[in-house]
Amino acid sequence: MIDLHSHTTASDGTFSPAQLVAEAGRAGVRILGITDHDTFSGYDQALPLAQQAGLELVCGIELSTKLHGHSVHLLGYFLSVEGLGDFRTWIAELQASRRDRNLRLIARLRELGVNITLEEVQAHGGEMTGRPHFAQLLIEKGYVSNMQQAFDDYLDESAKGYVTRREPQFAEAVQHIRGAGGIASLAHPIRLREDFAAILPELCAAGLNAIEAYHSDHSPEQTALYLQLAKQHGLLVTGGSDFHGTVKPEIRLGTGRGGNLQIPDNLVERLQCKDAS
Ligand code: AMP
Ligand code: FE
Ligand code: FE
Ligand code: ZN
Repeated sequence: MIDLHSHTTASDGTFSPAQLVAEAGRAGVRILGITDHDTFSGYDQALPLAQQAGLELVCGIELSTKLHGHSVHLLGYFLSVEGLGDFRTWIAELQASRRDRNLRLIARLRELGVNITLEEVQAHGGEMTGRPHFAQLLIEKGYVSNMQQAFDDYLDESAKGYVTRREPQFAEAVQHIRGAGGIASLAHPIRLREDFAAILPELCAAGLNAIEAYHSDHSPEQTALYLQLAKQHGLLVTGGSDFHGTVKPEIRLGTGRGGNLQIPDNLVERLQCKDAS
């Protein structure tokens, strides 16, 4: 089994890199991509453990980018991890912008009468604090009753608590991934706020290499459509569960939501030889 989309405590997952490697073994995942938000830290920590466990680890990342004013997630896969120095320097800037955003988000929420501190939010996070950690604290303190309400009422782009952070433009992020020898894949296209087929030519012109056709949020019909669009535009295909651990307990590593994920065994070979057929 293959799963090319997973998160650890280095971003907003609840499994440590070691726990994720163990979970892959338990779930029968043979090739695992770690795609933490804006960091390789989880991958770096998991690598020696995966080697001991006989698990093939793929170095990945999930970047939040801006496209037509909206946030769009972009996956980067690095089948060779040589020469990632400049890319690591670039993502360190993204991490700094996230820390700055977190300070402004605290200030904004406090203006709205939400009594929380950065220390409290950080206590919910692992290495890098993100909005899901803010959401957990809002639930714990009784300001909202669940994750969805936390985003709807406070944290979503359209909500009153939202503060912007410097996110790279989609095309800029694609170029950084490709410049480092990586494959840029559009994450969970179902979550795009625009008509995917209509904007796909523009994404291809920006240098996009692949589409995440297989994802826990995709129905079989949607997966079929994304596979067909990939073929039509000569794009590679990627896939994964988007495993986050106990914060999204319904999503299982390797098999997705209720076993809805069926990722072909030769997916990584096709990425290696850039086979878009
Ligand atoms: P951040 O990277 O800190 O800005 O947080 C972004 C993360 O929050 C995304 O990767 C999602 O996991 C989560 N997220 C964003 N919007 C929503 C939403 N409307 N509902 C639930 N989770 C969301
Ligand atoms: Fe996430
Ligand atoms: Fe995502
Ligand atoms: Zn993800």
